[in-house]
Amino acid sequence: MSFATQMRNAFKALASPKVNAPAFDAVTFDSAVMNTYGRFPLALERGQGCRVWDTDGQEYLDFVAGIATCTLGHGHPALVEAVTQQMQKLHHVSNLYYIPEQGQLAQWLTQHSCADKAFFCNSGAEANEAAIKLARKYAHVKRDIETPIILTANASFHGRTLATVTATGQPKYQKNFSPLVPGFHYVPFNDIEALKVAIAQLDQAQPQVAAILLEPLQGEGGVNPGDRDYFQQVRQLCNDTGILLILDEVQVGMGRTGQLWGYQNLGIEPDIFTLAKGLGGGVPIGAMLCKRDCAVFEPGDHASTFGGNPFVCGVATTVCQTLMQEQLIDNVTARGTELRSGLTAIAQQHPTLFAGVRGWGLINGLVLADDAPIKSIDVVKAAMAQGLLLVPAGPSVVRFVPPLIVTAEEVQAALAKLRSAILTLT
Ligand SMILES: *Cc1c(COP(=O)(O)O)cnc(C)c1O
Repeated sequence: MSFATQMRNAFKALASPKVNAPAFDAVTFDSAVMNTYGRFPLALERGQGCRVWDTDGQEYLDFVAGIATCTLGHGHPALVEAVTQQMQKLHHVSNLYYIPEQGQLAQWLTQHSCADKAFFCNSGAEANEAAIKLARKYAHVKRDIETPIILTANASFHGRTLATVTATGQPKYQKNFSPLVPGFHYVPFNDIEALKVAIAQLDQAQPQVAAILLEPLQGEGGVNPGDRDYFQQVRQLCNDTGILLILDEVQVGMGRTGQLWGYQNLGIEPDIFTLAKGLGGGVPIGAMLCKRDCAVFEPGDHASTFGGNPFVCGVATTVCQTLMQEQLIDNVTARGTELRSGLTAIAQQHPTLFAGVRGWGLINGLVLADDAPIKSIDVVKAAMAQGLLLVPAGPSVVRFVPPLIVTAEEVQAALAKLRSAILTLT
């Protein structure tokens, strides 16, 4: 054996992950990472499809999907190929220049939605920031409103930047961050009379209400689907007044509801809508889309250094195309129906724990009974111990948002694990 071969073998033995692989050390992690998340004691290392493995090699069925983000699951060949190819070709150049991949993604999104124009950023909060700025500029230049107000819903969630956390109708996210951004006002969700009263009051002296910002289905706030009749009346009210309707599709867009866009479940079209979570299949990208007559931004108004770079746009375009090629939206509808019927049976078997199930497609919530002796986090922990990853949507709802590629067998496996988990709670 040559010296070079001996050295190579020695190095291979050293690099072998099975030999002396250091266990994951949460204490070291916490010593350096800021304490912003209440983490589960689990470190994930590897994924394939709807399955992930932790650093001890334990397997989990992933019904969280990076919080409704990994549209194509983990390690999808199309995603691996797109990431690799785009990185080899070109990954970042800035918006000083034309980016062909950005144009391609914008075309796909506008051809497949009610929108005409797209702006790209890096997250859901940024997409909503862009929408808020666009609506304010529209109010100033098109409607001569001096101090525009944006209405949002109680229990909504729009992000963690100062403007979007202000837009978020949940005081727990705003505590200790005052002064908040002016120009927001909250109304109850799915309540048309309350909305009309609020607008009448705010617009009494002169028009001030610039936009209504709503989620088609409230995700973080507890998987609350929008009421079709309510949204149609909101649309009509906006048509009558010139108020813009902004829909936050960050969690529900990109096929998750069994329709490409959440608003299709409501039979309406927004003036502006935002995307992020599912758009990049796990690669960070956000988008704000709008109809032609709202596209009042001009050069200098808004920008993002990373926004719409060749890498994220190339990958997101592949996610969009794969969604269509693999007919994943049909899968969402079929698997969603199976999941909801299984969850409904579980809820009926345990009426002291669960009140019922709600959701669309593959965004579903198992709702705890009012006087249940447990919280959603207890169900999530018990499921994790059985090898199923779930995420709470508030204290009384357990959220199920698997990758859109989830199979019928995986839905049944998740239900079986959940049933075992519930036995450990009763
Ligand atoms: C997650 C979420 C956001 C925030 O997205 P980030 O990428 O975390 O900034 C905004 N709106 C909705 C509806 C969301 O679910």
